[in-house]
Amino acid sequence: MSSHDVIVIGAGVVGASVAWHLAALGARRVLVLDRGQVGAGTSAQSSGILRTHYSVPENVALARRSWTVFERFAAYLGDDEASAGLVRCGYLIAAPDGPKRDALQAALAGQRAQGITVNLLDAQQAASLLPICRFDDAALIGHEPEAGFADAYLVATGFARSARRLGVQIREGVEVQGLCLEGGRVAGVVTPQGRFTAPVVVSTQNIWACEIERWTGIALPVAAERHKVLALQGPDPYTREMPVYKDLGSPGMLYCRSYGGTQMLVSEGVAGQALPGPDNGPGDIGMDDVLHIAEQVSARFPSYATAGLASSWTGVYDVTPDWNPVLGALPELPGLVLGCGFSGHGFKLSPAVGRVLAQCALGLPTDVSLAPYALERFRSGALLVGRYGVGAVS
Ligand SMILES: Cc1cc2nc3c(=O)[nH]c(=O)nc-3n(C[C@H](O)[C@H](O)[C@H](O)COP(=O)(O)OP(=O)(O)OC[C@H]3O[C@@H](n4cnc5c(N)ncnc54)[C@H](O)[C@@H]3O)c2cc1C
Repeated sequence: MSSHDVIVIGAGVVGASVAWHLAALGARRVLVLDRGQVGAGTSAQSSGILRTHYSVPENVALARRSWTVFERFAAYLGDDEASAGLVRCGYLIAAPDGPKRDALQAALAGQRAQGITVNLLDAQQAASLLPICRFDDAALIGHEPEAGFADAYLVATGFARSARRLGVQIREGVEVQGLCLEGGRVAGVVTPQGRFTAPVVVSTQNIWACEIERWTGIALPVAAERHKVLALQGPDPYTREMPVYKDLGSPGMLYCRSYGGTQMLVSEGVAGQALPGPDNGPGDIGMDDVLHIAEQVSARFPSYATAGLASSWTGVYDVTPDWNPVLGALPELPGLVLGCGFSGHGFKLSPAVGRVLAQCALGLPTDVSLAPYALERFRSGALLVGRYGVGAVS
């Protein structure tokens, strides 16, 4: 048995960020346990898109704080070798007339209210940034210049390496099988390698957060949902200089970005395939799925009607009923802090989330209030839903 100040379960991009921030805030004996390897969970499957565009103001605040970390990742970590793989290409989002336009307008106003630069573009201006795309049916186009995409695996391993340099112990291949409870509070974790004690345990287990429910009996509504991602090689390259594009007008609410400098990474922003349990292994992508996405792509990017499929993969989201995360301590079980349920948009929040969860674990005031993200909201009905309704735009 060994004792620690804080134990983190899970070394994905969120757990690694929590671990680094714990050490940076002065925690001495921090232990991270992962049954696999750092960053090899769902973080490795991420599309990596970074934006502050949200209709939920709390998410805007977390994304904005996170962006300031992504844009100076090496300096933030104090590690010259660290890189987030950031491509600062901007973010373009377009809506046709109707409710999506109204939601977009409100979300852009919300971003501006938080001091974020967002511009309204006409179709011609948008086409000058993304000439492979048609905008003739767009009623409103927003452009966020300080946005883009990065590499979630690089960020997870970057946080982890710097955390180790600050003294954090990260043990891979160690599965947490339960929580130790003493006097009505969490006192550590149980593993096949023995017990590890700590007065605070932070769970950043993503789709495996359902284990918390099994261990404690506290209902945690996080469901695993598989999503499909395609890389297309079109006749016209989708270059790194071209912005990420969100198409609110397509049936699947497509998102697209440059991939490998010439290809298009594309996926749908609607509900995916519900899985019976947590499993981030590869799933099938049938020809019907490819055609379904390809039809939407060629409606928006005419020259991509002749695009070829370069590669494809699946990834799994940890989805909550309002598509927003559960963050913070549980009043009913002192000593346990949760960071899960990121619902397909957790990478862009991970630096700021890591810091607020570390603050919470150490009993410090948090940079932003965690009250809106409390698990309690699923019991009280005070869900965290913005103008876009439930979904990953949030
Ligand atoms: C296809 C896809 C596209 C995405 N695109 C974007 C995007 O464009 N932008 C964006 O912001 N977000 C995106 N996301 C979401 C984002 O990638 C995730 O929210 C984020 O990576 C989750 O990080 P995590 O640390 O919570 O989870 P994970 O990386 O899954 O880490 C959880 C870790 O916990 C470990 N673990 C679990 N249980 C135990 C246990 N009992 N004992 C020991 N270890 C345990 C696992 O082994 C795993 O390593 C996407 C996700 C997917 C799947």
